[in-house]
Amino acid sequence: MPGTNTSLTLLNLLKTHFGFDTFLPNQKQIITTLLKGNDTLAIMPTGGGKSLCFQLPALALKGTAIVISPLIALMKDQVDALRSNGISAAYFNSSQPEEEQQQTLSDLQSGKLKLFYVAPESIFLLENILHRIVINLFAIDEAHCISSWGHDFRPAYTRLGSLKQHFPEIPIIALTATADSATQDDIAKQLAIPKAKKFIASFDRPNLYLDVRPGQKRIQQILQFLKSHQDDSGIIYCLSRKSTQSVADKLVAAGYDAKAYHAGLSSEERSEIQERFVNDQIPIIVATIAFGMGIDKSNVRWVIHYNMPKNIEGYYQEIGRSGRDGLPAHTLLFYSFADVVQLRKFAEGSPTEDYQLAKLERMQQFAEALSCRRRALLGYFGEHVQEDCGNCDVCKNPPVYFDGTQLAQKVCSAVARLNEQEALGMVIDVLRGAHNASVYSKGYQNIKTYGEASDVSWRDLQQYIIQLINQGVLEIRFHENGRLILTPLAKGVLFENRKISLARPLQKKEEETSFTSETQTTNGLFSKLKQLRAKLANEMGVPAYVIFSDASLKDMVAKLPQDELAFSEISGVGQAKLEKYAASFLKVIQEEQKEKPKKVVKTRKKKRSNKTPTHLISLGLFRDGLTVDEIATQRGLVNSTVHSHLLKAHSAGEEVEVEKLISSEEIDKIASAKQQLENPKSLKDFFKHFEEKIPYWKIKLALYLSDN
Ligand code: ADP
Ligand code: ZN
Repeated sequence: MPGTNTSLTLLNLLKTHFGFDTFLPNQKQIITTLLKGNDTLAIMPTGGGKSLCFQLPALALKGTAIVISPLIALMKDQVDALRSNGISAAYFNSSQPEEEQQQTLSDLQSGKLKLFYVAPESIFLLENILHRIVINLFAIDEAHCISSWGHDFRPAYTRLGSLKQHFPEIPIIALTATADSATQDDIAKQLAIPKAKKFIASFDRPNLYLDVRPGQKRIQQILQFLKSHQDDSGIIYCLSRKSTQSVADKLVAAGYDAKAYHAGLSSEERSEIQERFVNDQIPIIVATIAFGMGIDKSNVRWVIHYNMPKNIEGYYQEIGRSGRDGLPAHTLLFYSFADVVQLRKFAEGSPTEDYQLAKLERMQQFAEALSCRRRALLGYFGEHVQEDCGNCDVCKNPPVYFDGTQLAQKVCSAVARLNEQEALGMVIDVLRGAHNASVYSKGYQNIKTYGEASDVSWRDLQQYIIQLINQGVLEIRFHENGRLILTPLAKGVLFENRKISLARPLQKKEEETSFTSETQTTNGLFSKLKQLRAKLANEMGVPAYVIFSDASLKDMVAKLPQDELAFSEISGVGQAKLEKYAASFLKVIQEEQKEKPKKVVKTRKKKRSNKTPTHLISLGLFRDGLTVDEIATQRGLVNSTVHSHLLKAHSAGEEVEVEKLISSEEIDKIASAKQQLENPKSLKDFFKHFEEKIPYWKIKLALYLSDN
């Protein structure tokens, strides 16, 4: 194995070349393993920092790293990014002009390149050359493409199986974001690296806010959402080509710059749209799922699923395209029964129907979850976390349960009286006493339960019935026009007064919809820095993030560096970027401060007074002597939200008179239940323990107070 360049430590290399001060989780372990000459399998989520795991060793070791990558666009972007960091890198593929190929190969042979990117199809064409040069490692990016188990099998990858045989001495690192363990094992087997050390980074992406909302009035909801995401880049995923076009048209009509992207466009059109998106020239793309693979854009601030994806893997991969720079990003999934029915139809008749339907069901369960979504998501990938995340819609607005026995009886009785022949929509119409043609044509206005739940809104009733389905009281017959039938549990509800708890549908108040990324362009300096970045990117013909990521610009806004030394401390500023860009970015920062010191202060002040955090507004009212009920009514919130505001304020060190909320006896009682329950996994365990008599918020508060 080639000798290491010991004069620079890894951290030095990290700062000098990439401008970062610390490693992301697992990066260091992976790098050290590779430096010792061991084969390595790195499994990290998108945005986890995979590239650095082979780029840094490539710099630390003598010779060249050979990187195999499936897509030309990906190779090009990575090479651009490396060059902008002053690292000599090049790519080779069959679509390049002859002279460019020759130049690259001559650079490769003369040992000029630290990293050489090549498509799997081309690598064996170059075998003679590869045997003549010093190679320090092989990196196989998107390694799941080698496995037919994976979701993205590429036949050309299978040839890589003989790489180990041809170059037995050279360590291989395989990298993928595929969480599925069958695929992981298959990768090691196919690449003939059975002893590869495996590193699995957490799949958690804490900066992604997970949000699920009922798929009603979607366009209206999206327009509302976009108001708080002006100028941010985002992707809307749709199931069909047709809907990408119609959604894009509606957004354009509302004044947004949005483009549809689907397989029906020519490949030139598609690559143009993609490029303009990457370069921050088009903020919104409305796409079918094909969009995004191979896009290395780090500042996608939001992803919306207009339709439900067919499985959790796809969902996770798609939301994962946002927030790769580690800054907050908002992901929003619209959930509708109609989508489930549609997706089932797609799956039916396929040879893997059972498998697909099972995956769809898990997706559906996720969308309907009444507990922390991130825990559900990570649990699906085999990661079991103890704590709720605090950054999903359920955590932000936990469900409030009520005794839904009566309502459940009404629903079950309606289903029975409709002879278990009708689907969800009709059952709701009948219960609400709708005066429409389909009800009248069947004479349903005459049955006994007609109009019995007219006090419940259509939407809420739909939610309650879905909960009853999830609780196993009703069943939906997808194969038979989605008719609802009663299960044995329903008999208990109807005849034995079986108790049913229902959760109030989540209230999506303004505070959630206006979740804004902190990089909102209301900040004048931030948008000026963005403009400068766009200008430079344009001049150099590279994507904007190759110059600087949003995270770097944000760090500039926060630290306001005044000289080169201070600029070198900005995250993402290494030696090459310091030399290239410090002067022009410093100039913008200084001008902004000189020109508008007053205005800056003013807008900041204004912003602050406008945007008192919502939990502090609740706290203010609480201090004014209002009760939680009164605050909730006044602010149009549910009680549990107000409770969580007070809890949040308390944990942030604000003085909150908790005695008004909970007595010390109650705290003791709940704390001692914790001991009794041995290994309580969730608040629900406590809730049950106290026979549903102590509300969730109180349990949470008590546990928090007794722990602190
Ligand atoms: P992946 O290939 O796993 O999706 P990337 O290699 O594209 O991830 O890295 C994601 C982002 O994280 C990039 O913007 C990259 O510059 C940044 N990054 C990588 N390593 C670090 C680090 N140690 N500190 C800060 N940012 C990092
Ligand atoms: Zn959560």
